[in-house]
Amino acid sequence: MATIAMKFGGTSVADIERIRHVATLVKREVERGNQVAVVVSAMAGETNKLVAWTNEAAHGGNNLAIPDQREYDVVVAAGEQITAGLLAITLNAMGVKARSWLGWQVPINTSAVHGSARIEGVPATDMKRAIENGEVAVVAGFQGVAPGTRISTLGRGGSDTSAVAVAAGIGAARCDIYTDVDGVYTTDPRIVPKARRLEKIAYEEMLEMASLGAKVLQTRSVEIAMLHRVPTRVLSTFTPDVGGTLLCDEEDIVEKKPVTGIAYSRDEAKITLHKVPDRPGVSAAIFGPLADAGVNVDMIVQNVSEDGETTDLTFTCTRGELTRALAAIETHAKDIQYRAVTHTADVAKVSIIGIGMRAHPGVAQLMFRTLADKGINIEVISTSEIKVSVLIAEEYVELAVRALHSAYELDAA
Ligand code: ASP
Ligand code: MG
Repeated sequence: MATIAMKFGGTSVADIERIRHVATLVKREVERGNQVAVVVSAMAGETNKLVAWTNEAAHGGNNLAIPDQREYDVVVAAGEQITAGLLAITLNAMGVKARSWLGWQVPINTSAVHGSARIEGVPATDMKRAIENGEVAVVAGFQGVAPGTRISTLGRGGSDTSAVAVAAGIGAARCDIYTDVDGVYTTDPRIVPKARRLEKIAYEEMLEMASLGAKVLQTRSVEIAMLHRVPTRVLSTFTPDVGGTLLCDEEDIVEKKPVTGIAYSRDEAKITLHKVPDRPGVSAAIFGPLADAGVNVDMIVQNVSEDGETTDLTFTCTRGELTRALAAIETHAKDIQYRAVTHTADVAKVSIIGIGMRAHPGVAQLMFRTLADKGINIEVISTSEIKVSVLIAEEYVELAVRALHSAYELDAA
């Protein structure tokens, strides 16, 4: 007998029939003698609808003004409340004792950053007692409670994070994330039909995959899984008995290829400042105001100065932050003293990821060679111990991902 957490995403609970199917999967775990907490997302499409309503209410649908984030959270958290209640009703109707738990009831304590709050703790004392008494706890994902009792939400895709945090909070032996794909793949199978499902992936690798664009899990959920060492599985609601991918410690992976997976992100924008003075303090003058404006600068390159006096500096951020970034730069034009500024959103980032990279020399070189052979120009490069990312023109993303997938011998036979 074990305590486990299960999580079901939006497509898994899209209608009452699917919720009934989910209930059978929960019931099966109960019949195996497990104590279960199950975390649910809103029914597919619900959250988008709620978000649209908040925009419409705030300013007739004009996307520029932002509604009060605290009220935004009250509205968008509602989708998960509905699913939690429906699943509890369904379980009870099947003879499985269950009750719903909203974020504030658990409680899932979060920071006060409404709209993208961070979970700070899941005490869950009463809920744990209920589970131990044999009642299934159906937890509304995506929501929590900010200091001062206001409802918060965790950012889009946040139910994954709720699930792992609940698993850690109740000391679950594992967290099973049921979704509409049967695991984590070497890359996006929609681009590379020969992508392979990974049996296992190290927490560190999954963290890079998620933050570099793979959409399977919210990045923060992987951070929490890694921090608390929660064995987390990704599996399909529709074919729960085949496949799956286990997130685990690096030591539990026997075969370490140089590259485990390839991620890409189209959500990139590039800004270049031309002819900024090449002297101490200039980077601080540029990146200080960007940080103050809440822009997350990702990749940076500073070119070699040709004349010894000025240099060009390029950096990237998300497309959503581009306008804010340009505004911050222009406001501080006097301090930065650039000659001109150019920008484009027609760029994308492609990354190779793998813990095996540490032990294999020449991994980056193969990436550059492969892209060169396809005539793809690399605009910016950034690396860490277990990943190499390149910025390229967006039109070449698919070509690049496919070529790299073959080059690192990831293609399925
Ligand atoms: N319902 C929320 C969203 O659509 C949270 C989630 O599904 O993980 O983003
Ligand atoms: Mg999701």
